[in-house]
Amino acid sequence: MPIRSRIRTIPDYPKPGIQFRDVTTLFQDATGFRLAVDELLKTYQGVAIDKVAGIEARGFVLGGAMAHQFECGFVPVRKRGKLPWQTIGRDYALEYGTDRVEIHVDAIAPGERVLLVDDLIATGGTAQAAVDLIEEAQGIVIGCCFLIDLPDLGGSRRLEARGYAVHSLCQFEGE
Ligand code: AMP
Repeated sequence: MPIRSRIRTIPDYPKPGIQFRDVTTLFQDATGFRLAVDELLKTYQGVAIDKVAGIEARGFVLGGAMAHQFECGFVPVRKRGKLPWQTIGRDYALEYGTDRVEIHVDAIAPGERVLLVDDLIATGGTAQAAVDLIEEAQGIVIGCCFLIDLPDLGGSRRLEARGYAVHSLCQFEGE
Protein backbone atom coordinates (compact mmCIF):
# COMPACT_ATOMS: atom_id res chain seq x y z
CA MET A 1 0.00 0.00 0.00
CA PRO A 2 2.33 2.77 -1.15
CA ILE A 3 0.05 5.64 -0.14
CA ARG A 4 -1.16 4.29 3.19
CA SER A 5 2.34 3.32 4.29
CA ARG A 6 3.57 6.89 3.66
CA ILE A 7 1.05 8.37 6.14
CA ARG A 8 2.39 8.82 9.67
CA THR A 9 0.19 8.06 12.66
CA ILE A 10 0.71 10.17 15.77
CA PRO A 11 -0.99 8.68 18.84
CA ASP A 12 -2.81 10.96 21.28
CA TYR A 13 -2.57 14.10 19.10
CA PRO A 14 -4.03 16.69 19.50
CA LYS A 15 -5.59 15.03 22.53
CA PRO A 16 -5.59 11.64 24.26
CA GLY A 17 -7.31 8.87 22.31
CA ILE A 18 -6.97 10.48 18.85
CA GLN A 19 -4.80 8.74 16.27
CA PHE A 20 -3.74 11.68 14.13
CA ARG A 21 -3.15 10.68 10.50
CA ASP A 22 -0.33 12.97 9.41
CA VAL A 23 -0.18 13.37 5.62
CA THR A 24 2.89 15.66 5.65
CA THR A 25 5.04 12.53 5.34
CA LEU A 26 3.15 11.67 2.14
CA PHE A 27 3.23 15.24 0.80
CA GLN A 28 6.97 15.69 1.38
CA ASP A 29 7.75 12.51 -0.57
CA ALA A 30 7.96 13.33 -4.30
CA THR A 31 6.83 9.85 -5.42
CA GLY A 32 4.14 9.62 -2.77
CA PHE A 33 2.64 13.04 -3.48
CA ARG A 34 2.49 12.45 -7.22
CA LEU A 35 1.01 9.00 -6.69
CA ALA A 36 -1.68 10.35 -4.36
CA VAL A 37 -2.71 13.17 -6.72
CA ASP A 38 -2.65 10.84 -9.75
CA GLU A 39 -4.80 8.26 -7.94
CA LEU A 40 -7.36 10.92 -7.01
CA LEU A 41 -7.42 12.20 -10.60
CA LYS A 42 -7.99 8.73 -12.07
CA THR A 43 -11.50 8.42 -10.66
CA TYR A 44 -12.62 11.54 -12.53
CA GLN A 45 -11.04 10.95 -15.93
CA GLY A 46 -13.49 12.12 -18.57
CA VAL A 47 -15.79 13.76 -16.01
CA ALA A 48 -16.66 17.40 -16.63
CA ILE A 49 -15.50 19.52 -13.68
CA ASP A 50 -15.73 23.31 -13.42
CA LYS A 51 -14.24 23.78 -9.95
CA VAL A 52 -12.32 21.82 -7.35
CA ALA A 53 -13.26 22.92 -3.82
CA GLY A 54 -10.57 22.12 -1.23
CA ILE A 55 -11.14 22.19 2.52
CA GLU A 56 -8.63 24.15 4.63
CA ALA A 57 -5.81 23.40 4.89
CA ARG A 58 -4.64 20.05 3.56
CA GLY A 59 -7.43 20.03 0.98
CA PHE A 60 -5.77 23.10 -0.56
CA VAL A 61 -2.60 21.13 -1.29
CA LEU A 62 -4.44 18.29 -3.00
CA GLY A 63 -7.12 20.43 -4.59
CA GLY A 64 -4.64 22.91 -6.09
CA ALA A 65 -2.69 20.11 -7.77
CA MET A 66 -5.93 18.50 -9.02
CA ALA A 67 -7.38 21.75 -10.39
CA HIS A 68 -4.14 22.42 -12.26
CA GLN A 69 -4.37 19.02 -13.89
CA PHE A 70 -8.09 19.37 -14.70
CA GLU A 71 -7.45 22.90 -15.98
CA CYS A 72 -10.35 24.10 -13.87
CA GLY A 73 -10.78 26.66 -11.10
CA PHE A 74 -10.00 26.14 -7.41
CA VAL A 75 -12.22 27.26 -4.53
CA PRO A 76 -10.85 27.42 -0.98
CA VAL A 77 -13.34 26.29 1.67
CA ARG A 78 -11.98 28.19 4.67
CA LYS A 79 -12.54 28.23 8.39
CA ARG A 80 -14.45 31.08 10.01
CA GLY A 81 -13.29 34.65 9.31
CA LYS A 82 -10.36 33.95 6.98
CA LEU A 83 -11.80 35.08 3.64
CA PRO A 84 -11.52 38.77 2.76
CA TRP A 85 -14.68 39.27 0.67
CA GLN A 86 -18.38 38.59 1.33
CA THR A 87 -19.00 34.99 2.30
CA ILE A 88 -21.66 32.37 2.78
CA GLY A 89 -21.04 29.97 5.64
CA ARG A 90 -22.23 26.83 7.41
CA ASP A 91 -21.85 25.93 11.06
CA TYR A 92 -21.32 22.31 11.96
CA ALA A 93 -21.12 20.40 15.21
CA LEU A 94 -17.86 19.31 16.78
CA GLU A 95 -17.53 17.03 19.78
CA TYR A 96 -17.64 20.18 21.91
CA GLY A 97 -19.13 23.31 20.34
CA THR A 98 -19.32 24.22 16.68
CA ASP A 99 -17.07 25.26 13.82
CA ARG A 100 -17.83 27.04 10.56
CA VAL A 101 -16.70 26.81 6.95
CA GLU A 102 -17.08 29.63 4.45
CA ILE A 103 -16.67 30.37 0.74
CA HIS A 104 -16.83 33.66 -1.12
CA VAL A 105 -20.31 34.51 -2.39
CA ASP A 106 -19.03 34.59 -5.96
CA ALA A 107 -16.80 31.49 -5.77
CA ILE A 108 -19.23 29.17 -7.54
CA ALA A 109 -21.67 30.11 -10.28
CA PRO A 110 -25.10 28.42 -10.50
CA GLY A 111 -24.85 25.12 -12.35
CA GLU A 112 -21.09 24.72 -12.01
CA ARG A 113 -19.94 21.16 -11.43
CA VAL A 114 -17.81 20.97 -8.30
CA LEU A 115 -15.54 18.24 -6.90
CA LEU A 116 -14.91 18.43 -3.15
CA VAL A 117 -11.54 17.32 -1.76
CA ASP A 118 -9.94 16.97 1.67
CA ASP A 119 -7.20 14.84 3.16
CA LEU A 120 -9.45 12.86 5.50
CA ILE A 121 -13.08 12.13 6.28
CA ALA A 122 -13.95 11.17 9.85
CA THR A 123 -17.48 12.02 11.07
CA GLY A 124 -18.17 13.83 7.80
CA GLY A 125 -19.34 17.01 9.52
CA THR A 126 -16.83 19.23 7.73
CA ALA A 127 -17.47 17.69 4.32
CA GLN A 128 -21.24 17.82 4.75
CA ALA A 129 -21.04 21.52 5.66
CA ALA A 130 -18.88 22.14 2.57
CA VAL A 131 -21.33 20.23 0.35
CA ASP A 132 -24.22 22.27 1.77
CA LEU A 133 -22.35 25.49 0.97
CA ILE A 134 -21.64 24.42 -2.61
CA GLU A 135 -25.34 23.65 -3.04
CA GLU A 136 -26.35 26.94 -1.43
CA ALA A 137 -24.28 28.58 -4.18
CA GLN A 138 -26.28 26.40 -6.62
CA GLY A 139 -23.24 24.37 -7.61
CA ILE A 140 -23.61 20.67 -8.46
CA VAL A 141 -21.51 18.36 -6.28
CA ILE A 142 -20.17 15.73 -8.66
CA GLY A 143 -18.18 13.89 -6.00
CA CYS A 144 -16.28 14.03 -2.73
CA CYS A 145 -12.78 12.61 -2.52
CA PHE A 146 -10.32 12.01 0.29
CA LEU A 147 -6.95 10.40 0.79
CA ILE A 148 -8.14 8.74 3.99
CA ASP A 149 -11.44 7.39 5.24
CA LEU A 150 -11.95 6.55 8.91
CA PRO A 151 -14.90 4.20 8.28
CA ASP A 152 -15.64 3.60 11.96
CA LEU A 153 -16.66 7.25 12.29
CA GLY A 154 -19.26 6.87 9.54
CA GLY A 155 -18.72 10.09 7.56
CA SER A 156 -18.38 8.51 4.14
CA ARG A 157 -21.45 6.32 4.73
CA ARG A 158 -23.41 9.38 5.79
CA LEU A 159 -22.47 11.30 2.64
CA GLU A 160 -23.27 8.28 0.47
CA ALA A 161 -26.63 7.91 2.20
CA ARG A 162 -27.39 11.46 1.08
CA GLY A 163 -26.61 10.50 -2.51
CA TYR A 164 -23.06 11.81 -2.90
CA ALA A 165 -20.37 9.75 -4.63
CA VAL A 166 -17.50 9.34 -2.18
CA HIS A 167 -14.05 8.12 -3.11
CA SER A 168 -11.07 7.59 -0.82
CA LEU A 169 -7.64 6.09 -1.43
CA CYS A 170 -7.16 4.25 1.84
CA GLN A 171 -8.82 3.48 5.13
CA PHE A 172 -7.70 3.34 8.75
CA GLU A 173 -9.84 1.31 11.11
CA GLY A 174 -10.57 2.83 14.51
CA GLU A 175 -10.54 6.53 15.23
P1 AMP B 1 -14.79 15.30 10.21
O1 AMP B 1 -15.53 16.61 10.04
O2 AMP B 1 -15.08 14.65 11.54
O3 AMP B 1 -15.02 14.36 9.05
O4 AMP B 1 -13.25 15.65 10.27
C1 AMP B 1 -12.53 15.88 9.10
C2 AMP B 1 -11.55 17.02 9.23
O5 AMP B 1 -10.82 16.96 10.45
C3 AMP B 1 -10.54 16.96 8.11
O6 AMP B 1 -10.29 18.28 7.63
C4 AMP B 1 -9.32 16.32 8.73
O7 AMP B 1 -8.15 16.89 8.24
C5 AMP B 1 -9.48 16.52 10.23
N1 AMP B 1 -9.32 15.27 11.00
C6 AMP B 1 -10.30 14.62 11.70
N2 AMP B 1 -9.83 13.52 12.30
C7 AMP B 1 -8.52 13.44 11.97
C8 AMP B 1 -7.45 12.49 12.27
N3 AMP B 1 -7.66 11.41 13.04
N4 AMP B 1 -6.23 12.72 11.75
C9 AMP B 1 -6.01 13.82 10.97
N5 AMP B 1 -6.95 14.74 10.65
C10 AMP B 1 -8.19 14.57 11.15
